[in-house]
Amino acid sequence: MKLEPIIGLEIHIQLGTNSKMFCSCDNRSELLPPNTAICPTCLAQPGTLPVPNAGALRSAIKLGLALGCSIAPRLKFDRKHYFYPDLPKGYQISQFDEPICENGTFTFHVPGTKVDRSEITIGIERAHLEEDSAKSFHGSSGETLVDFNRAGSPLVETVTRPDFKTPLEAKTFLQEMRLLVRALGISDGDMEKGHMRCDANISMRPVGDTKLYTKTEIKNMNSFRSVERAIAYEIERQTALWEAGTPPVIGSTRNWNDVEQKTTESRTKEAAQDYRFFPEPDIPPFIVGSLVEEMRRELPELPSAKYIRFQKEYGFSAIDARQLIENDELATYAEHVASEFLNWAKDSDPDANEDGIKTKSAKLLSGWLLSKYPGALNELGRLFTPETVTAENFAEFLTLIYQSKINSTSAMMLLKKMIETGDHPHHLLESENLSGADEGATSTWIDEVITENPAQVAGFKSGKEALLQFLVGQVMKKSRGTADALSVAEEIRSRLL
Ligand SMILES: [Zn+2]
Repeated sequence: MKLEPIIGLEIHIQLGTNSKMFCSCDNRSELLPPNTAICPTCLAQPGTLPVPNAGALRSAIKLGLALGCSIAPRLKFDRKHYFYPDLPKGYQISQFDEPICENGTFTFHVPGTKVDRSEITIGIERAHLEEDSAKSFHGSSGETLVDFNRAGSPLVETVTRPDFKTPLEAKTFLQEMRLLVRALGISDGDMEKGHMRCDANISMRPVGDTKLYTKTEIKNMNSFRSVERAIAYEIERQTALWEAGTPPVIGSTRNWNDVEQKTTESRTKEAAQDYRFFPEPDIPPFIVGSLVEEMRRELPELPSAKYIRFQKEYGFSAIDARQLIENDELATYAEHVASEFLNWAKDSDPDANEDGIKTKSAKLLSGWLLSKYPGALNELGRLFTPETVTAENFAEFLTLIYQSKINSTSAMMLLKKMIETGDHPHHLLESENLSGADEGATSTWIDEVITENPAQVAGFKSGKEALLQFLVGQVMKKSRGTADALSVAEEIRSRLL
């Protein structure tokens, strides 16, 4: 029997608002000493009343719109009951039957074996607002301690449909979510800090079957890598159960153990009725109204759209486009450079085919911007900022290479001068004499190399083409890399043949 995995994700995003979900306590819980960002409301003392955070609502709507969801006409909260030391009220204020966002789809690109990524679309069941629990941890002598700083932090829980087919798809979606919440400015989505947490629901079914079988929920995955590994482990474990004729029949929750690289059962899963959901009586529902349109206008260009646009508009490869959109500041900078540089490249090559120029200039740009430039910055102990080398100067610099006015060795020297001085490339080129060795000197070096290497010269003359590279290499050595290798090769060839 051939089986296929059915995978769905539940993702908690901790929103980066200034205050908590229902009180005005500082929301930067992990930066503050334990139990200092607390008040009677988030400690659930009698007589306190929750007041919803408008910033958290705006963030949730933005995320919902970016995930293609429809937004509920009113905001309604419910109580979800369970008993645990990290939940002071004995219930969590969440949303049950009227989530603020529902029925979305999200399209993204999964890295494949090929260079390009393949596009998949998954369904978003819902995204709702709720408050976080406190944080419990173990003290030095094994006792359990509770820090209430996190109690009441605003969360958006996004529930996907079980549309993922592989662990890689699930991991990639999470990475896309992090990119998205950062682009929206609603959270840093940092998994290590717990600002993005993920549970995965996994079941197996015979291929061709449409029924959904009993699922297992995996918790405690604290990195992208552990999400991928935990799901892969669970697929293997459940496949073995199916093959033994004993597929899972009771839903359960399992914890991922990152050290042992396996999941272990923690408890059987509660059904919704165990939580005794009922409407939150302290917060009357209120109409969301024109806020939705206001948030729609505030949406920035989404990373997935930018990824496509960078390839189409500037000719970047899929891999380079992906690397650029990962960093907002770098992406904006690259875009400034690319648009200026592309114009110059077109002007200097008016007859060439436009797509050809685009591909060629994008390749040159990403090679320098993503690899050689960071290398040079690193060597000089500097960090990337858009001001270190202005986008205009960087584009001008690339044009010099594009027009073969400098070779790559001099270009590297020039770039380092640009980093150090912030000066224009043209100006530096003149003042630092980097425009390559002058022709007279190059001609002398070629003479010397021909005299000093009679055997290789004779070999080349008799047809050993590979020896030309040796002779060019000797000239380059004499010039300390400043001569232009292509014109040296041409010159040697014309002198000897
Ligand atoms: Zn509080």
